[in-house]
Amino acid sequence: MKARAYGAQSPTDLIAPLTIDRRSLNPRDVLIQIEYSGICHSDIHMARNEWGFSMYPIVPGHEIVGRVIEAGAQVKKFKVGERVGVGCMVDSCRDCGSCKEGLEQYCDKGFVGTYSGLERDGKTITHGGYSTHIVTQEDFVLKVPENLDAAAAAPLLCAGITTYSPLRFVGLSKGHKLAVLGLGGLGHMAVKLGHSFGAEVTVLSGSASKKEDAKKLGASHFVLTSDADAMNQVKGHFDFLIDTVAAKHDLGQAFDTLKREGTLMIVGASHVPLDLGVFSLIMRRRKMMGSLIGGIKETQEMLDHCSKHKITSDIEIISADKINQAYERMLKGQVKYRFVIDAKTF
Ligand code: NAP
Ligand code: ZN
Ligand code: ZN
Repeated sequence: MKARAYGAQSPTDLIAPLTIDRRSLNPRDVLIQIEYSGICHSDIHMARNEWGFSMYPIVPGHEIVGRVIEAGAQVKKFKVGERVGVGCMVDSCRDCGSCKEGLEQYCDKGFVGTYSGLERDGKTITHGGYSTHIVTQEDFVLKVPENLDAAAAAPLLCAGITTYSPLRFVGLSKGHKLAVLGLGGLGHMAVKLGHSFGAEVTVLSGSASKKEDAKKLGASHFVLTSDADAMNQVKGHFDFLIDTVAAKHDLGQAFDTLKREGTLMIVGASHVPLDLGVFSLIMRRRKMMGSLIGGIKETQEMLDHCSKHKITSDIEIISADKINQAYERMLKGQVKYRFVIDAKTF
């Protein structure tokens, strides 16, 4: 079928309307009518080929919520009419150690990204959520709890799971002090989720205007990263720091806020390499880890956790013709705290 979509034809083109093909249903596929699609900062990196592996035309979007409108003959998990989500992946090899452990994001053969990825046939380019419809194999479709607002739940599919997974991996819980560096889409979900796990959360932000919001989101403290005195007061203070900054920044300053053996978790994906003075690691036996989204099983677990704790994203709903403006605002750190596109406007 043909679907209306928004995408870019090259790294220097704006996001504009286009028409794409969606495959006819294989026996285990579902056809989803998209209702809302979140805008992740990765969409900007990818649309502009900042990471160097984009394929064009590119139709971004990997925070998708909609309803199943048709199910293939062998679909078991979903029924027509059910509310579902699609996140950052639509396939993986399903056979390697990581896939067997439910860590498809670390598939040895590389997972198939929801957009600008190559299907396992090696030639079909995937297209994402900036579109009216998507066809996805049921193993990569999530159940989105009906008690959550559909638009505000969409960002859980990337911003939610990307912060949930590392916080769970390190066993964040009551008694821990967590710092969240960068208060954007990922950052504000890290605050809400960290708070729901019982940790004391502090936001480290470059934007003084976000102080009141940080508290409303569940943070106990707010520190302006450009305020040297305030940063001095949190030296050696945190058990964990989750770094969500989308561009080059000072890692040494982030490390200094960690306790002995504290862990810096990098999720922000700056395309410019970050400098690291090794003494900030050596002197306090500190640790550093990266983390990529989360597996399908864990994504469902995150959605169920959010359902139970009534956690969604703070969003601004926009029409499709405002995507380019939304990108510009995100680049200035001016998003509160996730743009979500109303799919009726594609
Ligand atoms: P976002 O909503 O644009 O938020 C990023 C925040 O970083 C900004 O609001 C800002 O917060 C801070 N920041 C500081 N300096 C910045 C600068 N020079 N340019 C941009 N932001 C700056 O982005 P997001 O959607 O949360 O994504 C954040 C990063 O995570 C992106 O690089 C994205 O590609 C990456 N990502 C990674 C994964 C993964 O699996 N690891 C998944 C999704 C996204 P303050 O105003 O508070 O300083
Ligand atoms: Zn994303
Ligand atoms: Zn695999």
